[in-house]
Amino acid sequence: MTRPLRVIESAAGAELASPLPLQDQLRELVAPILIDDRRVFVTADDPVGGGPACAVAGCPRSRKGHQTLCAVHRDRWLAAGKPDLDRWDDPGPCPGPESVLLGRLPVPLRWEIAYGIVQARHRPSPPSLRVISLQNAINGLADTGIGSLLEPDEDRWPSPGRPSHGRMPKPVGILKVGFFTFTIDELDRLRGQFGHEHEYARDVWRLRRLGVTGVPRGWRLDFREIEQGWLRAAVKQFLRWRHDTGHSPSGMHRDLTVVTLLSGALTECVGAAARPEQFDRAVINRFLTVLTERGHAPNARRQRLASVRRFLEIARQHDWIAGVPAGAALYSEDFPKETKLSPRALPASVMAQLESAQNLAKLTDPRWRLLFPLLMETGLRINDALHLPQDCVIHDQQNAPYLRYLNRKMKREALVPISPEMAAAINEQAARVRTQYSAKAVLFPRQTMNPDGSHPASMSAHRAALNTWIQQCRIVNETGAPMRITPHQFRHTLGTRLNVRGIASAASLGARVQRCGSVDLGFRPGGASRPTFYLTRLVSCVDARRPIGWMHRVQR
Ligand SMILES: [Zn+2]
Repeated sequence: MTRPLRVIESAAGAELASPLPLQDQLRELVAPILIDDRRVFVTADDPVGGGPACAVAGCPRSRKGHQTLCAVHRDRWLAAGKPDLDRWDDPGPCPGPESVLLGRLPVPLRWEIAYGIVQARHRPSPPSLRVISLQNAINGLADTGIGSLLEPDEDRWPSPGRPSHGRMPKPVGILKVGFFTFTIDELDRLRGQFGHEHEYARDVWRLRRLGVTGVPRGWRLDFREIEQGWLRAAVKQFLRWRHDTGHSPSGMHRDLTVVTLLSGALTECVGAAARPEQFDRAVINRFLTVLTERGHAPNARRQRLASVRRFLEIARQHDWIAGVPAGAALYSEDFPKETKLSPRALPASVMAQLESAQNLAKLTDPRWRLLFPLLMETGLRINDALHLPQDCVIHDQQNAPYLRYLNRKMKREALVPISPEMAAAINEQAARVRTQYSAKAVLFPRQTMNPDGSHPASMSAHRAALNTWIQQCRIVNETGAPMRITPHQFRHTLGTRLNVRGIASAASLGARVQRCGSVDLGFRPGGASRPTFYLTRLVSCVDARRPIGWMHRVQR
């Protein structure tokens, strides 16, 4: 028997739920699509359960694997002796849509999954999952023995208990962002348990539910290790404020980690039930020692101390920690001296090896054959490069090509000049992914679970590719020792190269822009007509030793 849905209390401001219990609502909502109470039809157009359409006109099914035909048509085509597809006249009747089998799932889980499949049809940017992966995921879900997606905690998600890639998974793990989390969100929306306020009321925040996009949407902020209730409440207020004022997810994550350490110092000094009045300078001193004990370098300590100082300042301003003595504060004397880092650019001899045509030719995957030279030429952040869309090359009035990209860290669009050869290579790759995936595909799509190509390759995929390539080419440093190279070093290298030539764009100096007396002109996105751009500002560099990055800013 399945357990009833665990209904948690509705938060203020959440969407209004239907008066019907969730199970009854679900039954009604999925009745029209649930065949024999155990199957759902999916077509190639379905984000969940679909994929690129079978090449036979009018066939509702999606292609099988990397083939151009569905399984039925492929069998018929093979039986016909593999005729030229353009001239092949399919002899048989068109197969109907494919079925996703839900019979192994108990109720209400069965209805929940059906509901997720339907909702994916109506939501903008739904998850995408091919039918075979969907069926595998459903079978795995049946093996877990849960009765509803709303039952287990997302960070203690039961594993199907079957070996995967030859290894037994841990009994519980963290539920990754995908179709199941999408469906959980849709179910919570249905029962009125959705919205920022509802998430803020929890002790574990799922960043996807706070509108965070990209990789960090799968992150959680877990406040449960902060034992003092009043401190936990204040930290939640602080991070809520951070999020609402546009702080980055990685910054929020760091804030929470370090304030959790601060809470640990308070527990050590006074105990888990410490009251605000007991939070004194001794706790701060213990916290300073904790950071040293953990072996953080001075610059890392400075960053963490800045997080705590900000927390204490803002919490006092907003009266979230009334009762904490004024002496519990961080002063500039508490910060270790900043360590000046040596230049992180790659030596010219290494770059010459990386840029040699012979070595570049060893990159057989067209994605990496474009990505690595692109990073070397433009100095883009890897995350910005991986998200490049197909139409990222534009031209100015003199017909000079530019790469248009979204600077995800600074949250603005930007342009960088590129060579005509690079522009041509980008357009070639764009045409390739458009043919192979869809018009929505990014330039560097990941290869699995990506029917329309809209998901970029992962950080680990391109890193592994870079490492393999570096080893293959036997890239060595000036002493002949093998090099370890990260994509981010291309960024530093480019900045240094520009600086050596005596120029850099305004933003290439990062925080030092003001010292250069440069003005931030910003980017003004064009209207309906294609905008014209020109580079605004090339400034001499004051610190050639360590450019922080670079970016050409443009103005209409
Ligand atoms: Zn077909």
